[in-house]
Amino acid sequence: MQRTMRSAADLAEAGLIAAAEVPALDQVAQRYSISVTPLLGRLIAEHGPPLARQYLPEPEELVTAPHEMDDPTADAPFTPLKGVVHRYPDRALLKPLLACPVYCRFCFRREAVGPDGGLLTEAELEAALDWFARTPQVREAILTGGDPLMLSPRRLERILTRLAAIPHLEVLRIHSRVPVADPGRIDAAMLQALTLDRPLYLCVHANHAAEFSTESAIALRALHGTGAVLLGQSVLLRGVNDSPAALEGLFRTMLRHRVKPYYLHQLDPAPGTARFHVPVEEGLALLRSLRGRVTGLAWPTYVQERPAGGGKFPLGMEVLLSGAGQPPRDG
Ligand SMILES: *Cc1c(COP(=O)(O)O)cnc(C)c1O
Ligand code: SF4
Repeated sequence: MQRTMRSAADLAEAGLIAAAEVPALDQVAQRYSISVTPLLGRLIAEHGPPLARQYLPEPEELVTAPHEMDDPTADAPFTPLKGVVHRYPDRALLKPLLACPVYCRFCFRREAVGPDGGLLTEAELEAALDWFARTPQVREAILTGGDPLMLSPRRLERILTRLAAIPHLEVLRIHSRVPVADPGRIDAAMLQALTLDRPLYLCVHANHAAEFSTESAIALRALHGTGAVLLGQSVLLRGVNDSPAALEGLFRTMLRHRVKPYYLHQLDPAPGTARFHVPVEEGLALLRSLRGRVTGLAWPTYVQERPAGGGKFPLGMEVLLSGAGQPPRDG
């Protein structure tokens, strides 16, 4: 495996799927892009299902369950202009492109992301930066996409420098899967682009301990060296991390790499993702099984997107407040 695999045929050639599966998975690929980096290909071959399920396409993706929807987080009504999502008063998303290093099979933006998708034109990017400059209630710009670390270091540096020059932007944040999926992109030029005077929070998406390779350990160490604060975000996924041991392993591995678990997301109901669904009650029980036994540093907030653009909501709180659930034993 030398280059990124972008088709069912590539995956079959690498021995990650059977040749007989190629025709059905070609159909899937027409709707949802495939991308598996050589590093992840190697890790899939080594570790099997917890990684394979996240990245290898399945025929069920073309079946949309009744409760699933194209824009599950309802970003569209909160889009004042292309590339910007402003749902919460003090922070807004900037989506400079929609390409990713890998295409996760459970992605909540799967109807939008893809390899040739959504790179903002110069004029669109200028308009978006101008929106941040003239919206003083926004104190935090969150770069997401797609994956902002898929930009060239030069372009990323230009965007970050422009944002850091806006006085009311106290904090910058980037959400990325590159540190685990394609850590080779974190080279000297990328590190320089990420070295800022303004506080930068880098939120790394990973769902299983086995995603952390020697290469990603080196990249995370270097990213930490830029002064960025490293956070972890994960999605609770059936067959990937839906056991106490898998979650404990994931969060402890993050901590060993200086990544503080921030959010554990309940799966958003994007089309063709039903095989990943874990009920909320089960998610709460899983987290409760860690509480007390595992360091509090490993404890993320378990969140769910409310329907119709209601925003993120921490799960567990309402159970505790109503007294309906058994409060977790601390100690
Ligand atoms: C998730 C999200 C954010 C960030 O929310 P935090 O709770 O601060 O991590 C900001 N804007 C939008 C539209 C989001 O979906
Ligand atoms: S990296 Fe993030 S945005 Fe890209 S496919 Fe995966 S979950 Fe979706």
